[in-house]
Amino acid sequence: MRYKLWRSNKDKELHLLCAEGSEAFNALPAAVRHLGSWTGSKEGEVSGLRLAYRVMLAEQGFVLIYEPVSKLQLEHARPEVRMMDECPQCKGKARVPMHHGLRDKDCPRCGGRGWVRPK
Ligand SMILES: [Zn+2]
Repeated sequence: MRYKLWRSNKDKELHLLCAEGSEAFNALPAAVRHLGSWTGSKEGEVSGLRLAYRVMLAEQGFVLIYEPVSKLQLEHARPEVRMMDECPQCKGKARVPMHHGLRDKDCPRCGGRGWVRPK
């Protein structure tokens, strides 16, 4: 299911969150619809919404949010993107054995850093 965010033309800090589609919008209480007119704003997957919004949306079919657009945070933070991966050759140690383990040297795969950029 997808959500759609609307912004009131009367009050730029008033936002309305509801399910995507005119059907969902027309099912809103008239009192809520009349807080607009509304201009379409963000949309996305309901599953990506912050829990509080998701619960309110499920319970009442809409969420009114009074927040300047710069402060509006609808979706929960995504897990941090991993920038680096452990080097598969030296397993992050940055050194590989040579001469049957008598000595070691900088890992040629990662250049002695211990990590490589994921593909
Ligand atoms: Zn390495």
